[in-house]
Amino acid sequence: MQDIRCGQCRRKLAAASGFIELQIKCPRCRTLNHLKAPSLPPSVPRASRTTSS
Ligand SMILES: [Zn+2]
Repeated sequence: MQDIRCGQCRRKLAAASGFIELQIKCPRCRTLNHLKAPSLPPSVPRASRTTSS
């Protein structure tokens, strides 16, 4: 879980988990926040490519 905060007034706008891209307008200062999460893989337990034999 990650807090989404306004880049202008630091007001907490939302809490999200695993978002890719988010656009949210701050109701306080009316700043349109455009957030982009780093492209992290959605929990890969085993990333090992095993081409057996
Ligand atoms: Zn704000």
